[in-house]
Amino acid sequence: MDFAEAQKEALGCRRCGLCHGRTQVVFGEGPLNAELFVVGEAPGPNEDRAGKPFQGGSGMLLGHLLSSLGLDREKAYLTTLVKCRPPQSPPRSPKPGEINSCRPYLMSQLSAVDPKVVVALGDLASRVLTGRKEPVSRIRGRAIPLDGRLVFPTLPLSRALYTPADRALLLSDFSRLPELLAAARPTTYGTLNVPQDPAAERETLQPGLF
Ligand code: SF4
Repeated sequence: MDFAEAQKEALGCRRCGLCHGRTQVVFGEGPLNAELFVVGEAPGPNEDRAGKPFQGGSGMLLGHLLSSLGLDREKAYLTTLVKCRPPQSPPRSPKPGEINSCRPYLMSQLSAVDPKVVVALGDLASRVLTGRKEPVSRIRGRAIPLDGRLVFPTLPLSRALYTPADRALLLSDFSRLPELLAAARPTTYGTLNVPQDPAAERETLQPGLF
């Protein structure tokens, strides 16, 4: 599915139960030639209202982190694993089946943008985008070469919003982004080992870390 097709289909999508609680689909935003691609878990209430990813406190923190490094939020492509807000307050995490249902849209976005660096925020994004089952706290801040890109797992913005120690870790991880963006694309073509069920046990892909 190409990007335009994916966007058109997603805007009216009813592939999973998350369609029932959304106000609108939050597909993603940013230029299709972005070198930096940021993936969060799911839209929250602010994103659901605005129809755009990374609004409210998390969005402000992301903008601040990027601008403090001389990077422009507007030049990054921003999206989430699932495009509809999960229910409950605060919203629950998306379930494996929901992530799988939404996966073709994320893959279309990744393929169209073809970024150099993919930031995976939190455990779920890290598992889906790296194919590794370790918690993000174990592999955060390390760049994993996959599919000619660097996948970079780090903590979720929501955790950093409320915990100063986590904010310091997030800042430390983000401080590597200029270096990674300036690096050549990795020549290893290990593939993105996206599981059918992110929670399922599986052979862990062992790409190099640096
Ligand atoms: S979360 Fe994704 S798969 Fe589920 S209804 Fe929304 S757009 Fe469709």
